[in-house]
Amino acid sequence: MTIIFGPGGLGGVKEAVANLEYYASQGIKACEIEFTYGVYIKKEEDIRAIRDAAKKLGIKLSIHAHYWINLNSDDKKKVEQSKKRILDCCEVGEKLGVYRVVFHPGYYGKKDKEETYENIKEAILDIQKEIKRKGWKIKIAPETTGRVNVFGSVEEIKRLIRDTHCSFTVDFAHLLARSNGRMKYEEMVEDFKEFKELHCHFSGINYGEKGEKNHIMTDKKDVKELVRLLKKTGQEVVIINESPDPVADAIMSVNVLREMR
Ligand SMILES: [Zn+2]
Repeated sequence: MTIIFGPGGLGGVKEAVANLEYYASQGIKACEIEFTYGVYIKKEEDIRAIRDAAKKLGIKLSIHAHYWINLNSDDKKKVEQSKKRILDCCEVGEKLGVYRVVFHPGYYGKKDKEETYENIKEAILDIQKEIKRKGWKIKIAPETTGRVNVFGSVEEIKRLIRDTHCSFTVDFAHLLARSNGRMKYEEMVEDFKEFKELHCHFSGINYGEKGEKNHIMTDKKDVKELVRLLKKTGQEVVIINESPDPVADAIMSVNVLREMR
């Protein structure tokens, strides 16, 4: 069983290797590269340098795909563009030695939940077919989302795992927000304890009736509580911090884990 922490954010291409070195010096062992506004690592030499540095430093890399993805759009062209964005992340990710590509699958829009589920499931199967055809090892990991009008409840993500054998991302802050504070960390950990590996997101969060408003700094108490619960499951856990200062909060989390040994 291991729990490792890292920030959402590698920084710009020029600073990337130096950032990884700094992260490693602080006990950080994971990092999620944010392609949320596009795939910004393009040159082969940059890809190689980042991959080699992460490998040497023992930092596990993941990618967060574009925010602009909707696998349930009414517009077929937009669905195809969304699939392509995820696959573009997979292509660079494979070269970078990334293990997961995280994404928000889509919006219900005017469709009902069942139709939405079917559309997203079909799109994920298509993406996986392409990954297999290319011979890539990378896995796609739809995320539990923070707003009630966005696809991504615990039930929906678990159903996708069952039906497509995709990987997944558990965002504890999103689940807290989505349930308007009703869901406890204990319940979230319980919901996913059957899996050997957990890729997670965490931070503080502001929320209301419709769910997530914005991410805020992480409370040390909450990190302690999560670590306490996750230590009992014996899973391999990666926790990516997504607060406004994810590096500081990842370092704080590393220190919490050390204090709890
Ligand atoms: Zn996300």
